[in-house]
Parts: sequence; structure tokens; C-alpha cells
Amino acid sequence: MKPDELELTNEQKELLYLISRLTDHTNCPDTWIKETPLQALMFHAIRKGLFNDYDYAPISSSFLGQGRKFVNISKEGEDDLGDLRELGLLETIRLSSTKHDYITGYRPTNESVKQLSQLDNEVKSRIDSLFICPKCNEPNFDLVIDVGKSSFLMKCKSCSHNEDIPLIEPEDVSYSTKAYFFKTLGKHKTMREDNK
Ligand SMILES: [Zn+2]
Repeated sequence: MKPDELELTNEQKELLYLISRLTDHTNCPDTWIKETPLQALMFHAIRKGLFNDYDYAPISSSFLGQGRKFVNISKEGEDDLGDLRELGLLETIRLSSTKHDYITGYRPTNESVKQLSQLDNEVKSRIDSLFICPKCNEPNFDLVIDVGKSSFLMKCKSCSHNEDIPLIEPEDVSYSTKAYFFKTLGKHKTMREDNK
């Protein structure tokens, strides 16, 4: 199937447009959006009611050379990134970071231009709204990351208003994220018993 005959889901359209917006952005001159800021913005967008079908859960993963952290990741979002890539609308690059870690960068392919040009204004304005400051209404609300503090926030360049993005779960709170934690513990216990 050719890309212009595809029927993408609303979530896939939002994701593709979000990535195109980030990679064309004057703040991203390298034209690739790295997975961590992308995950932060996807998580932020889900909390704002976008990506209707997506959910998220804290998943233990290695985080920017700082050991393992519980990062709020959307499984459905990750699946759609894979799907968009398989459809030839996204391409990825492996970028080396510090401490011999590799991270993935994303950008739309040339084939995605037609898809992007056909997007409904509704899809675009939902994504655009993420970057509009809720306080002063200027379109200067951007992601700011402090890797050392594992802190992510949206900050307005015009009025300095900011909103925290709790992408990383604090260690002591992770126990209260029951489902994930206890399911894992339960599994290990069962396995041990089976091995007796
Ligand atoms: Zn503002």
C-alpha cells in the first residue's frame, strides 16, 4: 500500500504531526527528535487529553546514563511509533550519548509529506495547543529538560509560567504504582516455587 492510500488512526496522525512539528522547530536544528523528549511530550499530551486511545504506566528503564528509573511510557504510543516506521512515514537514527548509551532519534520521511499536508486542522490544532501558554496565550510554551535533576517541564518564554511533567516516578512513590510492581513480584515468587 502506498503511503497516500493509508488510513491512519487519529493517534497516529497526532503523533506524526507532533514529530514533524518538533523536527521543524527552530529549537531542534539537528532535525531529529530524541526519544526522551518525545516520550515526555507524549506523556504530557496524554495527561492533557490528547492521544485518546493511549494510556501510560511507569516502566523501569535505563535513563540517560543515570541508572534505572521508573519512566511513564505509553505502550500504545511506542507501538504507533513502530507502525509509522513500518509504513515508511517515520525514520529513526541511533544516536550515541554519554556512558555508551544509545538513544533513538525520530523524524518524518519524505514520503510522509503528503500525509502531513492532508491532516485535518483539528488534529493540528490539538497538538499546537500543547505549545500555547495557558497563562499568556503566547505560542512559546516549550519543553525544558534538566537531565541531572531528571526534571521535565513546559515553560513559557514570554511569561515564565511553567508546568511540571512528572515523567519520572520518584523512587519512594513507585511502590504505590501497584499493578506493575506487584504483578512482577508475584511472577518471580511463582517461578521460585515452581523450581523447588
Ligand atoms: Zn506565558
